[in-house]
Amino acid sequence: MKFLRDRFLLALALGGILSACGESPAPGGSDSSTQESSAPLRADERPNILIFLMDTQRADYLGMYGHEAPTSPSLDAFAEESLVFDRAFAPASSTSPSHASLFTSTYPRIHGVWNRVPRGEDEEPIFPALSQRAITLAEVLAEVGYQTAAIADGGNLQENRGFAQGFQTWDSKFLGADNRVDRALQWLDQERKPDQPFFLFLHTYQVHTPYVPAPEHVERFADPNYQGPLRAAWQGARDHWVANLGMKGAIRKLQGDYYRPALPEEGEFPEPEDLRFLQALYQAEIRQMDTAFGRLIGELKARGIDRSNTLFLLTSDHGEEFWEHGKYGHHQIYESTAHIPFLVQGPGTVTGRRADPVDLLDVMPTLLYWGGLDADSLPPSMLGRVLDFGTTDPAAAHTIIGESNWPEHQLSWREGERKAMFFPDSERAPEVYELAQDPGEKQDLASRQAAWLEAIQPAKQAWEDKAADWQLEHQLAPGVRDWKRLSEEERNLMIDLGYVDPEEFADESDGD
Ligand SMILES: [Zn+2]
Repeated sequence: MKFLRDRFLLALALGGILSACGESPAPGGSDSSTQESSAPLRADERPNILIFLMDTQRADYLGMYGHEAPTSPSLDAFAEESLVFDRAFAPASSTSPSHASLFTSTYPRIHGVWNRVPRGEDEEPIFPALSQRAITLAEVLAEVGYQTAAIADGGNLQENRGFAQGFQTWDSKFLGADNRVDRALQWLDQERKPDQPFFLFLHTYQVHTPYVPAPEHVERFADPNYQGPLRAAWQGARDHWVANLGMKGAIRKLQGDYYRPALPEEGEFPEPEDLRFLQALYQAEIRQMDTAFGRLIGELKARGIDRSNTLFLLTSDHGEEFWEHGKYGHHQIYESTAHIPFLVQGPGTVTGRRADPVDLLDVMPTLLYWGGLDADSLPPSMLGRVLDFGTTDPAAAHTIIGESNWPEHQLSWREGERKAMFFPDSERAPEVYELAQDPGEKQDLASRQAAWLEAIQPAKQAWEDKAADWQLEHQLAPGVRDWKRLSEEERNLMIDLGYVDPEEFADESDGD
């Protein structure tokens, strides 16, 4: 059973050796498995790859996507020289499933790495981990000669969730964008091997709750006269965070002690002035991250790392909602959480904007292809597409699917500018939105679009069936991080549900 993945990686290693000797055909050419085919670089000219992932960054709070307040001058300047995708979407509304999709090019229901899976009557959760048999982006890049490193911001991005798979350096602690940029520069200066291309995954939770931006950034966006409960919450959280940087459990403490008492109860809405201050804190976090990003780009240039030798991808794993659909945070898959930034810059990429829809499943195949892998060498488990960064012409129409699993299972189905929302585990009726006229999803057109809802059912059912088959075929059922906490009955249930393979459970659990 283990052989599928091992055999693929071995073949890749051998292919990689051949490529390095110049005996393998150049990638690209008459490739029919990808819908687009401008030739990427030859294998011996592989660029560095740098993903800058801004966790919880919704697209429409950035200048490049039309935000009016000055949240993102450095990112916008970078975007001016980049290929910007106007319609990029998260496959899930939370960190673990979106990242697992980014790293494996499969849908959340296939890899199963939800942030949490509630169980039992009291809904006490378990925490799935990526299957050790999954083939990850970092793993493939390492196999073909990249030096791989992840500098991440802790939280759900943990080794015991399987995210470290393929990274030769794994450093994930909740320390904020400035710290993570410093750590990335330290890695480049002290640990990078100059004779190898690098793949650096640089992730920050800077704009994620609990908001702890510096006062100079808050002053730029907040009403100076606001003295409501959220100002005190921010000040208390900020002071605590600065005094206890990097302490385990910091996020939970900042939320529980400072923010939760100042925020409305579930199902309630904030006062307008409180909402404005909360949004100003989010804007301030973006500006703080943007400042760190500007510094990163300057430091990289000083080290000779730029678009001539490095493929940059800037994106996010999901956005943030401010009660547009009754909730705060990112537990639903409406546009405020689904629409994410996505821009690239590097050797062979054009500058401009693209209107066709893409999602995070497209990242792995695209980066592998642009990183010099022959299209025939791409892992068969991937479901995303290879995107051609050499043109602003849109690719073929493509259905985009997103999901959230908790506290309510939601599934979004997007064809062009029309989007359906389904609520599979509840009595809630489906909703339909025409996003071109109604980007805020305010007018549900389900009754007028009953025929379309009916017409997409076979494709939706086929996708659900394929997802179930794919998980089995590619051995992608997740492991369970906290296996030892489960009762014997629950363990058997998890095995029956395919969440864990009894042969392997001992490897996949660490006690918590
Ligand atoms: Zn996230």
